[in-house]
Amino acid sequence: MRNPEEFLQMGDGLLVVDVQRDFCPGGALPIPEGDKVVPVINAWAEAALKKHLPVYYSCDWHPEGHPSFKSHGGDWPKHCVQHTPGADFCADLFLAPASVVVVKGVRFDQDQLSVFDQTGFADKLRRDGVDRLWVAGLALDVCVLETVLDGVRSGFEVAVIVEGCRPVTPAGGQAALAAMKGADIYLLEEVDD
Ligand SMILES: [Zn+2]
Repeated sequence: MRNPEEFLQMGDGLLVVDVQRDFCPGGALPIPEGDKVVPVINAWAEAALKKHLPVYYSCDWHPEGHPSFKSHGGDWPKHCVQHTPGADFCADLFLAPASVVVVKGVRFDQDQLSVFDQTGFADKLRRDGVDRLWVAGLALDVCVLETVLDGVRSGFEVAVIVEGCRPVTPAGGQAALAAMKGADIYLLEEVDD
């Protein structure tokens, strides 16, 4: 595992995307090895806390009958319904004190895959003095991908902690990494211990 303290510096922020029970094994929309991101992310959050850098956790928080659900014309099984256990953060996820939760997927008329989509998150980052955003979470080829592309469009330097992400499918993951590289997003690749 990478040592986050070697990478984090002043002006950085950490965004943890949708590490919720429904996206982990046993959940309603399980991503293979989704739970494996937790120890990696915890190490980054603890390092960020130590360096007094802001940590943000996004949360998919759908109303009943959300348009992303297959039952309502969308692509996905019903997941992360508001106030259900599946919408909780994974039990082992370390929530840094004073960290900020960014809620998305609450609209009744459309999905919000990107943490930047109509949440005001870019303004929050600017107010917090963040220039470079480190991103990890679920899923690499869906919400992480859309978020990091939006981050670059919003004028931030963006870095993806690859060992802290998992894709819905391996092919989707490869395509997502290629798209990120093409968009000037820095990929911190896994290293063998
Ligand atoms: Zn969703």
